[in-house]
Amino acid sequence: MINAYGDGLNILIIDDDEVDYHVTSRKLKQAFREDEASVAWIQDAKSIDYITQFSDFDICLIDQNLGAITGVDIIRDMHRSGCMVPMILLTGSMQGEFDQSITECGAVDFLLKDEITPTLLNRSIRFAVSQKKNEKKLVEMAYSDGLTGIANRKKFDEFMEANLCSSGRNHLSVGMLLIDLDDFKQVNDTYGHPAGDMLLQQVASRLKETVRETDLVARLGGDEFGIALTMMQDERDINIVLKKLNDAMAPPFQLGEHTLFCSASIGAVTHPLNQPASFQEMFRRADISLYGAKFKGKNTAQIYRGKTGKDNDLPKRLPSRIQNALANDEFQVFYQPKINTEDQSVCGAEALVRWFPKNAAPIMPNDFIPAAELSGDIVAIGGWVLDAVCAQIRDWKDGFNLSIPVAVNMSPIQIGREETIDLIQETLLKYRLSPDMLEIEITETASLLNSDLFARQLMKIHEIGCRITVDDFGIGYSSLLRFLDLPVSSLKIDQSFIAQINQSQKADAICKSIITLARNLNIPVTAEGVETSSQLAAIEDLECQYAQGFFIKEPVSAEHFMRWYANYRTSLSPHSSAYLN
Ligand code: C2E
Ligand code: MG
Ligand code: MG
Repeated sequence: MINAYGDGLNILIIDDDEVDYHVTSRKLKQAFREDEASVAWIQDAKSIDYITQFSDFDICLIDQNLGAITGVDIIRDMHRSGCMVPMILLTGSMQGEFDQSITECGAVDFLLKDEITPTLLNRSIRFAVSQKKNEKKLVEMAYSDGLTGIANRKKFDEFMEANLCSSGRNHLSVGMLLIDLDDFKQVNDTYGHPAGDMLLQQVASRLKETVRETDLVARLGGDEFGIALTMMQDERDINIVLKKLNDAMAPPFQLGEHTLFCSASIGAVTHPLNQPASFQEMFRRADISLYGAKFKGKNTAQIYRGKTGKDNDLPKRLPSRIQNALANDEFQVFYQPKINTEDQSVCGAEALVRWFPKNAAPIMPNDFIPAAELSGDIVAIGGWVLDAVCAQIRDWKDGFNLSIPVAVNMSPIQIGREETIDLIQETLLKYRLSPDMLEIEITETASLLNSDLFARQLMKIHEIGCRITVDDFGIGYSSLLRFLDLPVSSLKIDQSFIAQINQSQKADAICKSIITLARNLNIPVTAEGVETSSQLAAIEDLECQYAQGFFIKEPVSAEHFMRWYANYRTSLSPHSSAYLN
């Protein structure tokens, strides 16, 4: 570990060549008075724990040629992790392509070793330091949360992405915690918003004090915080942090004259090096765990176990549990809105089933639907979902005078059964619903779309008057032209394409051609899995008619959906195409 010293400029040189270091150091001594600058040297670039060591310095001069690693690599890594120390690259030679990579990696300047003079060094360093100072001020504003002063969502996302990129290289894992305050709304309602703001500020500073300097605490919005944990050895590290956070939240908070306790629910996920996951996937996992923690009764943490965790044999135990689950009322339908991209109005919702087993963590559909399809229990689950959804549509109609069409996902196994047609008809009748309030989503699979039985069944559903949507389009085997023979009224582009939109030319081209071809066939398209404003803007540019995704709203319970919808409509008023009767 090297330390910066002195009151003047603390300059760090990274150069594996001792002679070169001495030459640069000598020129620095000529460039600055003794009290103006001090110099430290790192020879072995591989051994540097960059983030901690760089932060002590005002400027860093890095040699390009460092053996296994290049100066450009280090600068790029540091730049991506948000390091604000200006970095100047020292090179022995200059080649065309190399030139480009320097400007892109985030170096403030580059100097040819042979051309370095004390005057040039002095000017370049002073310029770099003052330029970085201004930049730092602007960045701090763009990357911090106005209320708490800690990092904001943008900073969190970029920090996580950068750390995921470098975790493979430094053989250390990365962890993510999503923290949601329990009953925060009650604090706001009971003590007022200024007290709520004070609570958020105090929580922010407690969280910050609990983790290491190399970790990042951010406010992601409302009462939700995120912590990015860097340089983790294994899952034990996350347990240590969770224990510390629990201790940190335990003492009461003093909000003016009020003293109150506030607990938090935490979803945690690690990024094992042998199972890399994207940032979005980690976020999704952490979110699932947070959800599980809330479900377990708040004031608790849950670590994501995934498919390889200790619950590996869950699918084997599922069938017998599923049968009990229906009897014990453990399923619930969540609703996710779908909006019209032209005027942002809500034009419907998708029903997504959730399983909340008693005394156990919630199970997501991807983790039990395949098992239920194998065991045949999907038919009972599907029937239950259909009934629950139709009852809900009726409730919304009776209670709020609202007609919100809902799409139900239906397994091919269920579609293939003759009885399903009667079931749909009977359920619509039972709740006195017109068939256009119910949409059926089928997944695009070869067997489904190419078999005559399915074609006949789909035709019968169509004759009842329900719309049919092909889900997850683009990853299966079917061709859009097949739709000409099927009564399909719309399709949903698979979310894997939307996730890559603006990032992969291939994904852009696929989305564009699906939307264009569908438009020519008069089939409206929904983009699902829209997670960012830029994804929404991109699909709007492509004139994709409908959008659905976390950016608009995640799937939520029926009550939550109605609360969200009421606010959303007010903010959007006067249009809303979920028609009022
Ligand atoms: P799906 O029909 O394609 O549903 C979309 C999935 O994407 C849902 O996952 C939803 O929560 C998730 N999602 C929505 N917005 C976003 C986003 O912005 N980003 C990301 N990453 N994901 C988003 P969920 O609820 O876990 O459902 C998974 C799949 O399980 C569904 O995929 C559907 O095929 C199946 N499924 C769900 N409910 C039912 C059901 O009642 N019956 C049947 N047969 N299948 C169901
Ligand atoms: Mg679906
Ligand atoms: Mg889908």
